[in-house]
Amino acid sequence: MSLSQEDKKLIFDSIRDIKDFPKEGIVFKDITTLLNNKEAYQALMNHLEDRYKSYNLDYVAGIDSRGFIFGAALADRLNIGFVPVRKKGKLPSTTVCEKYELEYGFDEVEIHLDAFPKDNAKVLLIDDLIATGGTANAAAKLVKNVKADLVEVCFLLNLTFLKGDEKIKEHAPVYSVLDI
Ligand code: AMP
Repeated sequence: MSLSQEDKKLIFDSIRDIKDFPKEGIVFKDITTLLNNKEAYQALMNHLEDRYKSYNLDYVAGIDSRGFIFGAALADRLNIGFVPVRKKGKLPSTTVCEKYELEYGFDEVEIHLDAFPKDNAKVLLIDDLIATGGTANAAAKLVKNVKADLVEVCFLLNLTFLKGDEKIKEHAPVYSVLDI
């Protein structure tokens, strides 16, 4: 079911813009003001639950770190497991790793090799925001590398002018709650 205009506005208005964070020229979309606003947070989670309850998912995978907040809450609502995709060096067991390019240099994300115990698990990947798409693209590759079925990639916010979603669409459909 689609989100009502009223709920869309409630969610949008709850997200705060912080100029020049973490560096000059960046407008940081701060979701802490959504999380501490129970009406906005519930409207978002109700919408995500409503959208994904018929997808017969096996797991929600969340991207480090704000993807954990929405991903774990959604997994609990759907009564399924949650899997973290983490920045390099944080996961304790055997991992699969994927490198991706940043504006200056590289970063890496990892997933446990045995993250999805079920064969051909149906997985939703989630993060708070897609900008260039580098992080989510690497995370999507990881989910597929460990032989899961990546059903959709979901974001709360899509900075559409950066066209990051075009990369992700090569792996799976993309859904964003709010396009900016
Ligand atoms: P990217 O790999 O360029 O798509 O960046 C996405 C990751 O960086 C996500 O995990 C976001 O949480 C974070 N991020 C990038 N740009 C912003 C922004 N303007 N505001 C908040 N978070 C951002």
